[in-house]
Amino acid sequence: MKLTILGCYAPYAPKEGACNSYLIQSDNLNIMVDCGHGAFAQLQRYINFRDVHTLVITHFHPDHYADIHAVRHAFSGALRDGSRTDPLIVYAPSEPALIFEEINNWRDVFITIPIEDAIHRENKFGLVRLNFFPTSHPMPTFGVKIIKDDKVFTYTSDTALNNNLVDECMGSKIILAEASLRDTDIAYTNKGHMTAKQAGLLAQKVYAEKLILTHFWPEYNLHQLKREAEVSFDGNVNLAEMGKTFILD
Ligand SMILES: [Zn+2]
Repeated sequence: MKLTILGCYAPYAPKEGACNSYLIQSDNLNIMVDCGHGAFAQLQRYINFRDVHTLVITHFHPDHYADIHAVRHAFSGALRDGSRTDPLIVYAPSEPALIFEEINNWRDVFITIPIEDAIHRENKFGLVRLNFFPTSHPMPTFGVKIIKDDKVFTYTSDTALNNNLVDECMGSKIILAEASLRDTDIAYTNKGHMTAKQAGLLAQKVYAEKLILTHFWPEYNLHQLKREAEVSFDGNVNLAEMGKTFILD
């Protein structure tokens, strides 16, 4: 499996950047996880958008889903002109209901699956499975484990650090973790985010090999965040960067 960073910023994108979005590829399977501001344009740098099989929206904060409108119009056009034959599978939380229903009503373009239902199902596409788990954030939010053979890659989405997150990440070799905050921002962790150091602690507690930090405030010094994560994690700490790829196998 391969991960390409389509967007790593929050809650707004700097010039030539995009908000949260991650392309996971395995053989011919393309899964887009989150589609924040600017992500759909970035996607097209790497693949033909018509080749996306599944879109996962972890929660309805705009920096994770704003480009769903671009996705909708692009796929609508592709279905109309015959360059795409199947609707796009979209996993999304069922709350807030107003937003979910708007997306769910675009039935000509999307097959929308509430993540609350998907938690209890096997979501298997070829050799790849998607397992979802709820996180601690001010609105319903889900992390996702992407599993192929015995390799587990976990994306935390937005979350505070707690025991449930540690339990869910246990066994993950590589973790893509939000690192929204610096050590000095510790007071803001009650808003459902982690410091980089806490992201490191998470990786350390679950014996991960590699930690990829993401969800960056555009003004922050990312090397500082990396250093703060390295204080609590003995393994390999990486920064998500626009267009950077990681092999997940
Ligand atoms: Zn959020």
